[in-house]
Amino acid sequence: MKITDIRTTLVNARLRNWVFVQVETDVPGLVGIGEATLEFQSRAVATAVGELAGLLIGRDPRDRTRLWEAAYRYPFFKGGPVTMSALSGIDQALHDIVAKDLGIPLWRLLGGLARDRVRMYDHVGGGDSTAVYGDLTDSIAERVHHSRADGFTAIKILAVPRSRPVEGLPALRWAERVMAAARAAAGDEVDIMVDLHGRTTAAMAIQYARVLEPFTPMFLEEVVGPEIPASEMARVARATTIPLAAGERLVHRGEFLPLLSAGAISVAQPDLCHAGGITETMRIGALCGTYGVPLAPHNPLGPVATMVNIHVGLALPNFLVQEVMRADVPWRDEVIMGVAPIIDGHVDPPTAPGIGVEIDEAAAARHPFSHHEPVQWVHEDGGVAEW
Ligand SMILES: [Mg+2]
Repeated sequence: MKITDIRTTLVNARLRNWVFVQVETDVPGLVGIGEATLEFQSRAVATAVGELAGLLIGRDPRDRTRLWEAAYRYPFFKGGPVTMSALSGIDQALHDIVAKDLGIPLWRLLGGLARDRVRMYDHVGGGDSTAVYGDLTDSIAERVHHSRADGFTAIKILAVPRSRPVEGLPALRWAERVMAAARAAAGDEVDIMVDLHGRTTAAMAIQYARVLEPFTPMFLEEVVGPEIPASEMARVARATTIPLAAGERLVHRGEFLPLLSAGAISVAQPDLCHAGGITETMRIGALCGTYGVPLAPHNPLGPVATMVNIHVGLALPNFLVQEVMRADVPWRDEVIMGVAPIIDGHVDPPTAPGIGVEIDEAAAARHPFSHHEPVQWVHEDGGVAEW
């Protein structure tokens, strides 16, 4: 078997352009699909897929590990989110090809079931970019009620507003009110995760953690940005009883090791579309497992990514909970067919061969690439703020 072509299809889904990677083979009808979506850099990723394709066309797609090593090492300049997202999408598509060729669902190729079903969590949003903090409590409560009505037992919110490196009481009070509204709407039975989105310094994250702690969040996510030394996140971890999570912007297992060895994270959040695909995420899972740290993979991306995550979640022993994006566009099922339903906040093992999804090229063409500038928050003095 040989790879004959590798191409990308870009689909605009409001804020994001989904990047789907299709790896074609010389076996009639055998095509693998993966997802390499990277916010605000989708055309760069599509170009990177084209750059890597030259290393892979003509090779046997079943030699996944060797092809991963070739795509990672031969370009000499290793890593980076653009190239690693491209490699991630290709790696997923290679897995899809192998599992389809064997006539088995992807989770079986990854070692079979480590659990009977995958617990999903809903992202309900939040956050505030203004100095005069708006009242978000009603809308947060409404969104939490909506998630609960749909059967979710775990949700994530953005309870923390735009934050200066050192912030005052209004910001802390605002975060406390949002968290209180979410907890009141969710009740005690629902797990609430809080994403700080790398908006905060370690000093401010400690203060936010103190006001959020009485509401017992399941974890705090990205309490500092990915470029901040692990010692700073470890400082936050020592100052709060709330477990810390991070990893969505890390793109190799070597980038997780400092956080693990510093005792900074209790939950790892690799993104299967950035971290090096299934191959590297399973390695990250093994590395985290040696520290007793579970994975809650990051996934606000498209429907192919969601399905790949479900297969990995079924097979990975130290899996915790899976993020899913539901609120982007209503036509997800028209572009990608075969996505498993979420029932009572969980997904059962898919049975179709491979990832189990097919792309409708005509439907995809109805939503072509559309350029979007990133979110651009500023402080009151006009300085650039993290969002
Ligand atoms: Mg996040």
